[in-house]
Amino acid sequence: MSEVQSRVALVTGASRGIGRAIAVELARAGHRVACCSSSDGAKDAQADIEGEGGTALAVQADVGNPAAVDAAFGEIEAAWGPVEVLVNNAGITADGLVARMTDDQWGDVLRTNLSGAFHAIRRATPKMMRNRWGRIVNVSSVSGQAGAAGQANYSAAKAGLLGLTRAIARELAPRGITCNAVAPGPIVTAMTEDMPAEWRAVMEATVPLGRLGNPEEVASVVGYLCSEPAGYITGALVPVDGGLGMGH
Ligand code: NAD
Repeated sequence: MSEVQSRVALVTGASRGIGRAIAVELARAGHRVACCSSSDGAKDAQADIEGEGGTALAVQADVGNPAAVDAAFGEIEAAWGPVEVLVNNAGITADGLVARMTDDQWGDVLRTNLSGAFHAIRRATPKMMRNRWGRIVNVSSVSGQAGAAGQANYSAAKAGLLGLTRAIARELAPRGITCNAVAPGPIVTAMTEDMPAEWRAVMEATVPLGRLGNPEEVASVVGYLCSEPAGYITGALVPVDGGLGMGH
């Protein structure tokens, strides 16, 4: 059996939910994982990983702030060297009907969900290019393809992530760097758990597989896209949505 090469990975939005599950998945695959969050909650993710015998580092940064992203990369590089695997997972919602959506609701969601990924990719890729190897995965959403009423900002940001993914995939393919996106459907996390029971029932009925997904089901797909054997996949959008987005 060939040994998996240990890489330096960075997962944004790793304090909880899907990002935390991705961080754990990558650590279980043998990578050193920097867990980034805008809060200090990433320390819990670090403790989880270390509790399993893995290697992790909690870094605090608002991905929407390029200077903070730069400082976080500096911290990781000082500890372990360049980031080789980047997962842009940090995301927020600020829902509202478009006619009443404020500039802040629009701007905050675009800044975190789309510009945040751009900031991290811009900071990570010069060193990935030099090493002629890299894996980037952007966490989009089924809403980016299908659109979601009340989520013009979120849907636009998540659709934008797909364009970003494919532009980067083409630009960096000659340097051995892959860039892919996953599009989760409804997943049980803090983002969905406050949903009224009747909405949840409607959602479950709409998903062909009849249930919400788990963070670990997204994490295993991301883990594969970050792996060595996934080296011939780039510019892909992989749904993890129980069939909800079929046809989009
Ligand atoms: P969550 O709210 O549980 O976690 C979000 C994470 O992002 C947290 O760690 C938070 O600290 C971090 N974060 C938020 N703003 C940040 C910022 N400015 N800088 C750095 N970190 C920041 O969310 P989740 O449900 O785990 O979702 C994770 C990703 O998956 C998001 O991009 C979300 O849009 C996407 N997604 C979620 C679902 C779902 O149903 N939960 C469905 C489709 C896509």
